[in-house]
Amino acid sequence: MPELPEVEVTRRGLAPHLAGRVISAVEVRQPQLRWPVPKAVLSLAGRTVRGVTRRGKYLLVDCGDGHLILHLGMSGSLRVIPPGTPAEKHDHFDLVLGDRVLRLRDPRRFGAVLWTSDAVETHPLLAGLGVEPLSQALNATRLYQLTRGYRTAIKLFLMDGRRIVGVGNIYASESLFRAGIDPRKPAKRTTPEGAMKLAKAIKDTLRAAIKAGGSTLRDFVGAEGNAGYMQNRFWVYDRAGKPCRRCRTPIKRIVQGQRSTYFCPRCQK
Ligand SMILES: [Zn+2]
Repeated sequence: MPELPEVEVTRRGLAPHLAGRVISAVEVRQPQLRWPVPKAVLSLAGRTVRGVTRRGKYLLVDCGDGHLILHLGMSGSLRVIPPGTPAEKHDHFDLVLGDRVLRLRDPRRFGAVLWTSDAVETHPLLAGLGVEPLSQALNATRLYQLTRGYRTAIKLFLMDGRRIVGVGNIYASESLFRAGIDPRKPAKRTTPEGAMKLAKAIKDTLRAAIKAGGSTLRDFVGAEGNAGYMQNRFWVYDRAGKPCRRCRTPIKRIVQGQRSTYFCPRCQK
């Protein structure tokens, strides 16, 4: 499943191809995605794309009088291709911008193509999202505040998108290793110093993944068509039984909230 770094890599890849260009046509081959593609999407031709931003794992294409909201779901990918490129079986949506086409491929159809002409941050899918981890809004103080009263394990706190958005399973394990925090520790026991380390670790982890082109274990192709190659660089993720890269202690795997967590029992307290 594409996580925040993959979505951000996709955004950076797409934005130069879209910004400033006029939408010349829209093609919806399969309107039944996670939610039905609204009819308004079909009448976007003539609008100029102002830019492409991101909120959590949603890509927001600013069309002036509204936003196209795109989500990659479990298996979606977006690419920019030349017009006239034949559509394959899972190519459900095209946004044509003159001499180039933004195409969504999504075999499992958990992705989304939506439209809103209201203030985009008030859209029901976006309004409840937590703090953006890469923004200045997530700092030591804010992270410390967010953990107050949160009784469950810090790993589950990190993955709660109503608190912090877009730190998925892989990056939660990686961030906690970098911060030296045991993933089983109750979030509310995070110290101010721990919050400072963790805020930095989250940003460092996500930035490293973005720099590496996004990680993804399957189904993701970046906007320029390059598969991510982050998977060989994990500190702990998917390394059960292998020696810790810092202290050589075997990495442990446990299950939290039905998801695998990986950590070093010596480096993380
Ligand atoms: Zn270690």
